[in-house]
Amino acid sequence: MDERAPRTRVAVVGAGPAGAYAADRLLRSGDIDVELFDRLPTPWGLVRAGVAPDHPKIKSVTRVFEKTAKREGLRFHGNVEVGADITHEELLAHHHAVIYTYGAATDRRLGVHGEDLPGSIPATEFVAWYNGHPDAAHHEFDLSGPRAVVIGNGNVAVDVARMLMLTPGELAVTDTADEALAALAGSGIEEVVVLGRRGPAQAAYTTPELRELGELQDADVIVDPADVELDAASAAWLAGEDAGRTTRDNVEIVRHYATRDPHGHGRRVVLRFLRSPVEILGTDRVEGVRVVRNELLADETGHIRAHHTEDEEVIECSLVLRSVGYRGVGIEGLPFDERSGTIVNAGGRVLREPGGTALPGVYTAGWIKRGPSGVIGTNKKCAHETVDLLLEDLAAGLLPAPPHGGAELDALLDARGATRIDYAAWERIDAHERAAGEQSDPPRPRVKLTTHEQLVERGMRGD
Ligand code: NAP
Repeated sequence: MDERAPRTRVAVVGAGPAGAYAADRLLRSGDIDVELFDRLPTPWGLVRAGVAPDHPKIKSVTRVFEKTAKREGLRFHGNVEVGADITHEELLAHHHAVIYTYGAATDRRLGVHGEDLPGSIPATEFVAWYNGHPDAAHHEFDLSGPRAVVIGNGNVAVDVARMLMLTPGELAVTDTADEALAALAGSGIEEVVVLGRRGPAQAAYTTPELRELGELQDADVIVDPADVELDAASAAWLAGEDAGRTTRDNVEIVRHYATRDPHGHGRRVVLRFLRSPVEILGTDRVEGVRVVRNELLADETGHIRAHHTEDEEVIECSLVLRSVGYRGVGIEGLPFDERSGTIVNAGGRVLREPGGTALPGVYTAGWIKRGPSGVIGTNKKCAHETVDLLLEDLAAGLLPAPPHGGAELDALLDARGATRIDYAAWERIDAHERAAGEQSDPPRPRVKLTTHEQLVERGMRGD
């Protein structure tokens, strides 16, 4: 008879950075087995489907995740959707604990008239498309131009603006999805206007990304000097101790853009500040954006807010990319805070209601825990915080043994008809994509398979 205590089994739902970091921490913590689920046949979440294709260095973090995936005790179940193929209750019945790390699958809304006109698109969808996310494979974007407006001042706004302005040569060496590569190479867009509702001192993008805009091969960065004259509240804040290095550097770079002479490139990125969209204009499709000028005022807490003035203008354009943030969605059976788009939790322990008691064995990490903010590395600390609480609960005997084990989980998934992509199947997909990239002229890091069917078929093929 086997005298050993049964190993603790933890399900991690979502194989993006937060899931990978959580899995790694669990596997290093002792006798714990990890079942890592993803609804896509591919792992690594936004590293594959979000990070811009011209940022291969950022993507190299997958090497760390690949090491985790090879550790004993981890099983990957790609192409299994929790909430569709298997419920939360079923997962819990097969594991001592479940950690939800499935990120933020949708976008925040602007709430203005015309938002859903054809040609007004969430930047998240555009990002998914150029990155070959299977949900976006069939999308078509009208890039006939000549002007696109990007709404928002975060890193995603900068990413999409830059992707629209890269030359075919710059794009050709990336892993941009083939369909997007062809569409972007034939794009007629000559100008991208990036609209910030507040000023450069409040922009959410990071300095290297802002600097990169000024280094594009065939696009100038244009800033109106009047837009970078700081209002009293921003100037006072910038001079104080709360303003960090990123803010100061961003303001300096934007000021530099406002004074430098254009290089005379064929295309332009125009950074506009203190402008909010109040309506997306057009009858059958986008024809422009009506924007209002804002004034910035500090509220009683010192937070600097944008207030609309009477001063309006129309910016004509044929494409609007709304880049005002991602948004998480709930899963049946889990307490969800609609306002923040996050699972109700305290430090990663899922609570029955805000401020309430913990749901035994249920945890969360990453964007679905704290909202869509931070860079990839932020998820490491976030996942470790969660796993440490889980381990504390395990040590305290608070994780009841599940009635079912791993073999029963497999039988259940098979009965549901989910074609599971295990790690070996993902490695077949990966090897195929990389080999196709090597054979490309010019060589590329990979040529992505972009439909669900292609991915599953390649993963399941033995050769
Ligand atoms: P984000 O950083 O939260 O930026 C959202 C932007 O939208 C802010 O400028 C915000 O302005 C603006 N906004 C929100 N509501 C608005 C409205 N109603 N009208 C006009 N503007 C509005 O979000 P993100 O760009 O989607 O990025 C998500 C996370 O991923 C961030 O942490 C980002 O740094 C990270 N990321 C990193 C990289 C990278 O490291 N290269 C690349 C992509 C994404 P206010 O500040 O005024 O609210």
